[in-house]
Amino acid sequence: MSLAERAKRERDLAVAAEVVDRCRKCVIGSTRRSSVYGEGDPCAALMVVGEGPGETEDKLGRPFVGRAGELLDRMLLAIDLPRDDVFICNTVKCRPTIDTGTRLANRAPTPDEMRNCRPYLDEQIDVIRPRVILALGAPAAKSFLGERFSITKQRGQWFEGPLGIPLLASFHPAYILRQTGGAMTEVKRMVWADLKQVRDRLAAPPPAPPADAAPEQHSLFD
Ligand code: URA
Repeated sequence: MSLAERAKRERDLAVAAEVVDRCRKCVIGSTRRSSVYGEGDPCAALMVVGEGPGETEDKLGRPFVGRAGELLDRMLLAIDLPRDDVFICNTVKCRPTIDTGTRLANRAPTPDEMRNCRPYLDEQIDVIRPRVILALGAPAAKSFLGERFSITKQRGQWFEGPLGIPLLASFHPAYILRQTGGAMTEVKRMVWADLKQVRDRLAAPPPAPPADAAPEQHSLFD
């Protein structure tokens, strides 16, 4: 990847992040503290997509920086990917909250919120063009693969994601953290199997471009 291309992607993402910060399509655009656009390598081979920012992410304006984020960092390192080498973002860029009367608690994003935010996610995918998308948790997976997607039955399988990019879904790190004892061991075993698939896919040579994409060599000498 040329330095010029990297710089262009950085600029494109920075401009898009400003647009997201001004967005008020949803009520959560006004209740959140910071927008959480996403961060990482603009030329990343792997894009990780979570559900939505939580309290710590909202405070810091960065994705996956709470307890689930710490586990995600360890999961990525287990397949030799430092956090800085991937691009990490969410289906929605503002923290979805519910007022319990005493505090604002996290909640899952609504379908409307995900729909409103989708163009921003699609733009990120278009700029970065990762080789693999890893969707974490059922909401993120469903946002790509439809409501009928079952995280328990279909995690660990490859699907065609946006722009034909291979997409695999696995359990969300927050879900892993909620497990105890043998259940946690079992969930970790499944996530490790999924991560190894991601690692192997990234290690495989990228698919050759379609025949009509490259000029034929001999035509150079005609
Ligand atoms: N959970 C998510 O899905 N995303 C974050 O950024 C943090 C926690």
